[in-house]
Amino acid sequence: MTAGLYIHIPFCQRKCFYCDFYSIENTELINQFVDYLILEIQQKVSAGKYSDLTFDTIFFGGGTPSLLSGTQISRILDPLHKNFKILDGSEITIECNPRTIDKEKLKAYQKASINRLSIGVQSFLDSELNFLSRIHNANQAKESLNLAFESGFENLSIDLLFALPKQRQEDILFSLEEAYNFPLSHISYYNLTYEEETPLYQDLENGKIEPLSDDEESSLYLSIIKNLEQQGFKQYEVSNFSKPNLQCKHNLKYWTDAPYIGFGPSAHSYFDNSRSKNVDDLLIYFNLLSKKEEPLIFSEELSFKDRMMESIFLSLRADGLVLEQFAKEFFFDILFELRDLLLSLTLGGFLSIDKTKIKLTAKGYSLCDEICLRIIKDIENKDIEKIMRI
Ligand code: SF4
Repeated sequence: MTAGLYIHIPFCQRKCFYCDFYSIENTELINQFVDYLILEIQQKVSAGKYSDLTFDTIFFGGGTPSLLSGTQISRILDPLHKNFKILDGSEITIECNPRTIDKEKLKAYQKASINRLSIGVQSFLDSELNFLSRIHNANQAKESLNLAFESGFENLSIDLLFALPKQRQEDILFSLEEAYNFPLSHISYYNLTYEEETPLYQDLENGKIEPLSDDEESSLYLSIIKNLEQQGFKQYEVSNFSKPNLQCKHNLKYWTDAPYIGFGPSAHSYFDNSRSKNVDDLLIYFNLLSKKEEPLIFSEELSFKDRMMESIFLSLRADGLVLEQFAKEFFFDILFELRDLLLSLTLGGFLSIDKTKIKLTAKGYSLCDEICLRIIKDIENKDIEKIMRI
């Protein structure tokens, strides 16, 4: 199975008030960060752990990777190409903030072999962008999309956000209609979440913000799915929709048990049944690498049961659980063992089951976490060791 490389760029021009991804506003450290990132790449190469892997995706995420120049991106890609087996024609994505790209930078990205852009539009309504404290407005979002097409990027994705307080159906439809003016290959439509330690969460706690009710949120979500599908965007994960065969190959790694190796503060890796995460503090990251230590905050081997639970959770949130593959890997006949629960979820319109797959319906996607937890709880209630014959 081909693997993915993830590079976390931990800088943002200004922190958005709802965001809990690791990033800092001190962009003066970018050059130094690139030096240390290259050191981390060399350190991982010397450890020789990944020499058997073949990669077909590279993803620059963040933070705001588009704060980096084309030269800085090339400096990072160079040691990756020299030291890892990366297939020709691999998908190479960079996340961009509309305010941080221009024609020259996009040309330089193309020269550096970036072939996919993911632009953080979030909304085409200025009122929503203001609420989210984004640094761009709707016109700048549209300009950045025009710029991307004029520069020749054909594989282009945008991120949008729903479930903002007071958001109405017409707000969602407005952003979607604006999005359809551009020949996009992919749209990620995430729901706004209230993460602890964000100013948004504080506002919620202090009663300054009233979140949408579950029913309101679910109704917005279902209309997003319907509208996107009518426009030819097929849903392939809870929050992700694409034109045919244009799914984000890198993100598919996360949901299909493929290995991925992360670099940079807070980056995750999954390889050889173990997962790890880098420290989410830039100075500690620098310090550990200077001492030739791995910049890890944790590393753990997944047990058989962990892998089984994770497989259920990840496959259901994406394109469905493949019955034959699951039975082979976990010696567990899920259709037989969980027949009562699966029948009731199917009758309730949350699941569809055929000979090959268990898959969430649109209604099921809207309650994905709850449904996965019910399935996992049902398995835990069984004498699992006996059932799995291990
Ligand atoms: S630009 Fe993106 S990563 Fe940076 S603070 Fe805003 S939401 Fe978070």
